[in-house]
Amino acid sequence: MVSTSSLVKQAGNDEAGATVGARIEFRNVTRRFAGKGGAAPVVAAQNVSLSIRDGEVVSLIGPSGCGKSTLLNMGSGLYLPSEGEVFVNGARVTGPNPQVAFMLQKDLLLPWRSIRENVELGLHIRGMEARQRRDRAIALMQRFHLKGFEDHYPHQLSGGMRQRAAMARTLAVEPTVLLMDEPFSALDAQTKMVLQQDLAMTLAEEKKTTLFITHDLVEAITLSDRVLVMSKRPGTIIEEIIVEIPGREDPMVRRRDSRIAAYVSRLMELLHIDDLVSSDAI
Ligand code: ADP
Ligand code: MG
Repeated sequence: MVSTSSLVKQAGNDEAGATVGARIEFRNVTRRFAGKGGAAPVVAAQNVSLSIRDGEVVSLIGPSGCGKSTLLNMGSGLYLPSEGEVFVNGARVTGPNPQVAFMLQKDLLLPWRSIRENVELGLHIRGMEARQRRDRAIALMQRFHLKGFEDHYPHQLSGGMRQRAAMARTLAVEPTVLLMDEPFSALDAQTKMVLQQDLAMTLAEEKKTTLFITHDLVEAITLSDRVLVMSKRPGTIIEEIIVEIPGREDPMVRRRDSRIAAYVSRLMELLHIDDLVSSDAI
C-alpha cells in the first residue's frame, strides 16, 4: 500500500558529476565532527545519497541527533562534507550559495526592524533598490496574510505571524532551493496547520524545490512528494516513501484522506516508536 523506491536514482551525470535534473543532490555524504576532549569523532551523517528534482518537496525524518540539521547545513554550504559531495543546480557546493535559502524553527527576525524591513533584509543585503524591494516585500506579505502589519515590529506579532514573516523573508530572495529545519515545530497544532497550508500553496505555485526536516509524521506526509527516513546516528537514509495521495498543494485535504493512516503506521514502524514507549532513551 505504501510504496518505496530505490534510493539512488539511475540517471545520467553532467560534467561536474551531478545527476542531470537534480536541483539539490547529496552523493555519498559523510560528516564527522571532532570528539570533545580527545573522544572519538562523532559521525553525524553517514553515506547519505539523495537527489531532489525541480519543484519536488521532500521531507527528512529521523531520531534526534541523527544528522538531519548537519545535512541541511551542508546543503546551504555552511558545513562541508567530510566525504562525498553536495550539488546545487549541478554545481558542487563549496560555500554559501545565494540560490539556497534556509528557514529554522527560530524566526530570527531582527527586533529593531519593522516586519516589512525584515522581509526585505536579504534583498537589501543583495543591493536591490529600495522601491523594488519594498514592492516585493509588500506582495509577499499579502500572500502570507500579513497585510496591515508592514510597520509592526516582531514583538507585536504572534509566533505564527512571525513565522509567516520568516517565510516571506525566505522566499523574497527567490531561492531555487529551500531548506527548512523544523520551521513549525514551536507552533501550536492549529497554527501549524494554517502555516502548512500557506507554505504548501506557495511551494506548489512557485514550484520551489524543498528539503524539509520535521519530527511530525503527518506534517511530513501532507507536505511532501517523498519522505526519507533516517536511522539513528550515524544517520543514514534507510527508506524512501513516495506519498501517493493527491493534493500536495492542499495539506488540509490530504490530512483528511483515509490513506494517511497507512503512511503514519509505516513511519512509526521505521522509527521504532512502539519500542520507545517502554524505553528510557528519549
Ligand atoms: P539532528 O538535526 O538530526 O537532531 P544534528 O545534525 O544537529 O542532528 O547533529 C548530529 C550530531 O552531530 C549530534 O551528535 C551533534 O551533537 C553533532 N554535531 C552537530 N553539529 C556539530 C558541531 N558543529 N560540532 C560538533 N558536533 C556537532
Ligand atoms: Mg536538528
